[in-house]
Amino acid sequence: MAHRARPRPGPAGDGVSFRLTGGCGCGAVRFEINSPLVSASYCHCTRCQRRTGTGSSANARTEPGSFRVLAGEDRLRAWKPGGGAEKWFCGDCGSALYSRSPDDPLQIGVRLGAIDGDPEIRPSARQYTAYTAVWEAIPDDGLPRYPESAAAAASGADAS
Ligand SMILES: [Zn+2]
Ligand SMILES: [Zn+2]
Repeated sequence: MAHRARPRPGPAGDGVSFRLTGGCGCGAVRFEINSPLVSASYCHCTRCQRRTGTGSSANARTEPGSFRVLAGEDRLRAWKPGGGAEKWFCGDCGSALYSRSPDDPLQIGVRLGAIDGDPEIRPSARQYTAYTAVWEAIPDDGLPRYPESAAAAASGADAS
């Protein structure tokens, strides 16, 4: 399947045309995002390492209300650790898809790797660098590094 991000008319018909699509590896779960992503960052926290099996995870905050699951809602599963965002994934293939605030279901952070094509945003920070994997050095990319949550230093929820 060749899914690509392609601008389409917004649902309100107000002339705004922005649409990203994405989904899991097996194709059961599909979603769309109808507003530009708000911010993006790499998360080096231990939970992101566990849920992805990698050293860090690239996540982006969505505009509240802009994220919608199109297909496969019944396949979705979540890891809901205490004191953090719910981590939603495809129960069939295990693909990490998005995070959701347990306090506000409109606060959703999407995994950049789950998006089709260009997400039209780039990670601009690295957070939880105090927990960086010992086996992978942080690249010298000039991005600001936050030992703990970047959300604590800026506005908005932790999208990890
Ligand atoms: Zn899947
Ligand atoms: Zn994280």
